[in-house]
Amino acid sequence: MKANRIYNFNAGPAALPLSVLEEIRDSFINFKGSGMSIVEVSHRSKWFDDVINDALIRTKRLLNLDEKFHVLFIQGGASMQFCMIPMNFLQDEKSADYVNTGTWSTKAIKEAEIQGKKIQVVASSEDKNFSYIPKNIQFNKDAVYAHITSNNTIKGTQWASVPDTNGVPLVADMSSDIMSKPVDMNKFGLIYAGAQKNIGPAGVCMAIIRDDMLSLVPDFLPSMLKYSTFASKNSMYNTPPCFAIYTIQLVMKWLEETIGGLAKMEEINRGKAKILYDLLDTSGFYKGTAKQDSRSMMNITFRLPNEDLEKKFIQEALENGFGGLKGHRSVGGCRASIYNPTTIEALEALTNFMKNFEQKNG
Ligand SMILES: *Cc1c(COP(=O)(O)O)cnc(C)c1O
Repeated sequence: MKANRIYNFNAGPAALPLSVLEEIRDSFINFKGSGMSIVEVSHRSKWFDDVINDALIRTKRLLNLDEKFHVLFIQGGASMQFCMIPMNFLQDEKSADYVNTGTWSTKAIKEAEIQGKKIQVVASSEDKNFSYIPKNIQFNKDAVYAHITSNNTIKGTQWASVPDTNGVPLVADMSSDIMSKPVDMNKFGLIYAGAQKNIGPAGVCMAIIRDDMLSLVPDFLPSMLKYSTFASKNSMYNTPPCFAIYTIQLVMKWLEETIGGLAKMEEINRGKAKILYDLLDTSGFYKGTAKQDSRSMMNITFRLPNEDLEKKFIQEALENGFGGLKGHRSVGGCRASIYNPTTIEALEALTNFMKNFEQKNG
């Protein structure tokens, strides 16, 4: 533990790299010699232009994006995307496919239905409490897009590979696993992610959209709800969330310069997840809740023999400097969110604590 910081396993807002926080601290009063804080400079200034442009360049480089893709910063979180997606792409009775793999997919589906848009839920894992990712899904060839949630933050599952959609562009909610591993973006028409899980603070959602999807956006929508507005104005049609974008810039720099890119990040993340899953798989005390072939590298959900022990575990963990291990209030149990900034050392410390706790209570 450094600087009195705990091991932070929060699901979101979540841990950020310490070096990023230190750089923010150092530039918070006088940003780049401007004599102003980053939260005081104009979004139309050269200082902020440099921030947003560097964030965009680094994002494109990390994900290997060509000119077909536009990186946008939109407010309203991932939840706003749930409504913008059907609003922007489903006109004139056109239809989209959705796969329901948990709480967030369910919410995405609801927002399309509220608007009276035509959608089809082509697969769901609700029959087994969303503990797995469906396989062999038949997507409709005439769907405008196919929506998936790439990582299910609450249920602890993740798509191990991208499904074959019959050529239909994938739209993915990557809130909790964006930048955790390389992705083949050519299969995606749009990806989006609330920043506060894996790439920054709350207050902004990163959306990456392909040209052909942009061309579907109708003129009649309100400006602030159109992807085309954000694409044509470099996400600065209105005042953008400057501080959140600045933090993303620093996280992208950390990914490139300290970690060494997304392939390296994936290797580290796999190593981290293995430390905890190995413990869950060999313990008769802790039990993982997700099916093995659907397990998440980012959010590891598990149970103890009973709820009293879970309460005690979470409490004692907190007293020993491990925060955020309580499962989502809708499912109970325990969850360790181990996003990019979480270190191997944190996983080793956690599993040591867990082994001790089992010895005393098992
Ligand atoms: C947290 C989360 C959301 C909601 O994000 P907001 O930014 O709070 O709207 C949506 N989808 C997934 C997968 C999430 O983890």
